[in-house]
Amino acid sequence: MSDSLTKPDLEFVRQLKAAGGENLKKCFQCATCSVVCKLSPDERPYPRKEMIWAQWGQREKLVTDPDVWLCHQCNDCSTYCPRGARPGDVLSAVRSYAIQHYATPSFMGKLVGDPGYVLLALAIPVIVLLGANYMAHGGLMFAPAHGEIHFSEFLPHATVNVLFSILFTLALIGGGVGLLRFWKDMKKHRPGAPKVGLIKAMVDTFVELALHGKFRTCGTAKPRTWAHLLIFYGFAGLFVVTGIVVIMLILAPDSYPINTLTHPLKIAGNLTGISLVVGCTWAIYNRLSDPDAAGSSTYYDWFFLVVLLMVGITGFGAQFARFREMTTLAYPVYFVHMVFIFALLIYLASPP
Ligand code: SF4
Ligand code: SF4
Repeated sequence: MSDSLTKPDLEFVRQLKAAGGENLKKCFQCATCSVVCKLSPDERPYPRKEMIWAQWGQREKLVTDPDVWLCHQCNDCSTYCPRGARPGDVLSAVRSYAIQHYATPSFMGKLVGDPGYVLLALAIPVIVLLGANYMAHGGLMFAPAHGEIHFSEFLPHATVNVLFSILFTLALIGGGVGLLRFWKDMKKHRPGAPKVGLIKAMVDTFVELALHGKFRTCGTAKPRTWAHLLIFYGFAGLFVVTGIVVIMLILAPDSYPINTLTHPLKIAGNLTGISLVVGCTWAIYNRLSDPDAAGSSTYYDWFFLVVLLMVGITGFGAQFARFREMTTLAYPVYFVHMVFIFALLIYLASPP
């Protein structure tokens, strides 16, 4: 493909402005931003080039640009920009647009990337879970009036396993197809990129997430490292613990429910849950206490953080209510917990 600029997509420019890049037209290409960005590679520095592409409505170039995903939203570039063009916010708006562009099916991107769809994003899990409850009991049934609390009374374990296995598979397919579309477009429209294969790129990304090596090189972003790592390991830990529980339920259904907090799976689940809740709370505090970071956080980031935090809080709430035998509280809180897990799977279905 020719590197020349193509016809401007004015609707794309409008959407970038609406998503937080309202000052992008102020850029006069001094390149200060690319110089101050500690993560900007020498061979293809950013975000100056992204700023001119944004000004000229070069949608194709920006949605296939791998460099916008290298940015860690420290906003050093916005701080030093002499024109107040806020390039960090523009990159954030580009990422938000790219997520919606590659979401498969496309309405999944709207569900998690557009605040106007938040009620729908939560209503879908509510309707599906109530429908599953209705089918399992031949009518809606929330909580038995008395007796030991077993969450399988709300939804049988077999139903939960089937429902969430289907959702997880759909999330994997949706996220995978979106990622492959992005990868294909990047190869088609950006000569020389990517320099490695998809598997290698995914492994490198996973290692970076697990260690935050590049993230720590940015002095401004460094204080956010521990909050991110707590979220990452909390999320990964809960994923593994949940996987083991599902396998247990299939192979040895009598070993569930676990009625003691000292069971190794409960200990692992609670430790990773604490990591998740502390990490999310810390990250939200960082965003709220630093107006620059908050300014460049998209709704997509907030959706993820809040849903993840709610998964953790409601998980602990349901466990607390069950062990304290608070029947009227335990089942509704468990229901809300399931709604947020469902919403998280919707989020995971959208790339990257
Ligand atoms: S965004 Fe600001 S710092 Fe970057 S090139 Fe434009 S004017 Fe210069
Ligand atoms: S926000 Fe930070 S990481 Fe992103 S381009 Fe600006 S300086 Fe670089």
